[in-house]
Amino acid sequence: MRPSALVAAATVLASVGTVGISAPARARAAEPRKQPVAVGYGGAVATVDATATAVGLDVLKRGGNAVDAAVAAAATLGVTEPFSAGIGGGGFLVYYDARTRRVHTIDGRETAPMSATETLFVDPATGQPYPFDAARISGLSVGVPGTLLTWRDALDRWGSRPLAQMLQPAERVARTGFTVDETFAGQVAANQAAFAQFSSTSGLYLPGGRPPAVGTTLRNSDLAATYRLIAQRGTDVFYRGQIGRDVLATVQHPPTVAQPGAAWPYPVRAGAMTTTDLASYRTRSPVPTRSDYRGYEVYGMATPSSGGTAVGEALNILERFDLASMTTSQALHHYLEASALAFADRNRYVGDGTPRRTLRELLSDAYAGERACRIDPAAALPKPVDPGVPDGSYGGCPAAPAADIRDDRTGTTNLTVADRWGNVVEYTLTIEATGGNGMVVPGRGFLLNNELTDFNFVPTQGSAPDPNLPAAGKRPRSSMSPTIVLADGRPFLAVGSPGGATIITTVLQTLVNRIDLGMSLPQALAAPRASQRNGAATQAEPAFITSYADGLPPGHAFTATSEIGAATGIEFLRGGQMLAVAEPERRGGGAAAVLSRSHH
Ligand code: GLU
Repeated sequence: MRPSALVAAATVLASVGTVGISAPARARAAEPRKQPVAVGYGGAVATVDATATAVGLDVLKRGGNAVDAAVAAAATLGVTEPFSAGIGGGGFLVYYDARTRRVHTIDGRETAPMSATETLFVDPATGQPYPFDAARISGLSVGVPGTLLTWRDALDRWGSRPLAQMLQPAERVARTGFTVDETFAGQVAANQAAFAQFSSTSGLYLPGGRPPAVGTTLRNSDLAATYRLIAQRGTDVFYRGQIGRDVLATVQHPPTVAQPGAAWPYPVRAGAMTTTDLASYRTRSPVPTRSDYRGYEVYGMATPSSGGTAVGEALNILERFDLASMTTSQALHHYLEASALAFADRNRYVGDGTPRRTLRELLSDAYAGERACRIDPAAALPKPVDPGVPDGSYGGCPAAPAADIRDDRTGTTNLTVADRWGNVVEYTLTIEATGGNGMVVPGRGFLLNNELTDFNFVPTQGSAPDPNLPAAGKRPRSSMSPTIVLADGRPFLAVGSPGGATIITTVLQTLVNRIDLGMSLPQALAAPRASQRNGAATQAEPAFITSYADGLPPGHAFTATSEIGAATGIEFLRGGQMLAVAEPERRGGGAAAVLSRSHH
């Protein structure tokens, strides 16, 4: 989210509790500069944050591999991007192993406690679903976090450095501090009323009752101590030990201030996560989704993310059309329509526990053929479009009923790392909404997620079953789409983005831009975005509307939104050259870096 006019002059604020806020110009290593594009050799890193990118690059420089660097960078994002990432959340990691030439995944998605039922987000007093923010800022929305075990499991399987060592740079950044930028201050400002409900959160992020001023240094010594404790004791201290106890206490007894501010209109409900829920958390390693697109092999994230199937299905539909020979507007028309069709199917069929057979059919070329015949080159389909019937028997263009559209939030972050050996990590991590559930675990310095609000609160599919209702031990459907594309079994590019359900369209549009529309990867990432998720209107950045709307066939409607996504990616060029790319503008711009400019 682009912060609007915020926080003008930097003020020196007194330090509060364990948190230090001070004017800039302290004896701290100069912060690295942000640069959205870098080309070179020997390894590459792209994240949304210059400090995290520098940390990842340093790990590569010292001989660490892509997995080591990805974990160190992600831990750093937990400090500098705490409203999007951290050990209170979850995520999905896709890994290309250069030695075996295989793609693997880790599903570190948060999980509903065993007490959860289909009516988790239905108010028992009224029988109505809670308003989103009432559900979000509560203990009910907190899923058992998966991020720390994602890091450990990735390092155990493919890393070359211990977790304790990969937490050190992040620990140092938390202890010595980082500079508050506009994006950070804007994210606090947007959450001010919610954060003010919790002494732990306001103590850390609302010094003196206000968002920290741009340009000041923020330290998080509680998080530094948390990282040190995990480094000493291992992940059990979180899942079975004292940090876990504090997580459970926060969920079960939200640390609300004695006099809740009038600005927050909802009661803060408690959740029912237990010691057993926490201790039984495991990551999973589903086989990645695969779809072949114009000679490339596109690998993505399987359920509980809908990213891999939705991106893959849309690509399979688009492959039926020669986008490269069309005008840009015609090609984008097909992109928007394919996206709507894929979203109708995602909403109807995809969630944690979708039968593998259904997922296979959704990604089959025969099914894509049936879906593709719905697209009219001369007019946009009325939205919502109906889901198809992925039953294995395909032919003409059948008809049926409707779908939901929601979540375009942006509380997530993405990073891409490649190393000198050719291994690649594409990793999207999140605490769901920007600012998660608003509760910093007291004394531990990290926010909890509100990931369970990614479940549908009530059935959305009419008389058909809804694949994404809450249930005990279930993982909410995600849209996260970390994607690795191979050409002849070797990495061609890797890309991912935050943005709630717009993640799917951002990754899809970036692939279409790069593969079909003749753009370079930096152009493909910077190009104006639109997100058609089977809603009556397509969400679009203003520049998309001004550049393309006039050339589209009739029937498209748009609603403008200031920005969509905050992607990162790496393209693998000839001779081992890597092109690392982050956003030039969105969310304040990201940071790309390569190990060395020249080949030697
Ligand atoms: N919780 C969302 C998902 O898993 C991501 C939220 C975001 O990107 O802002 O799809």
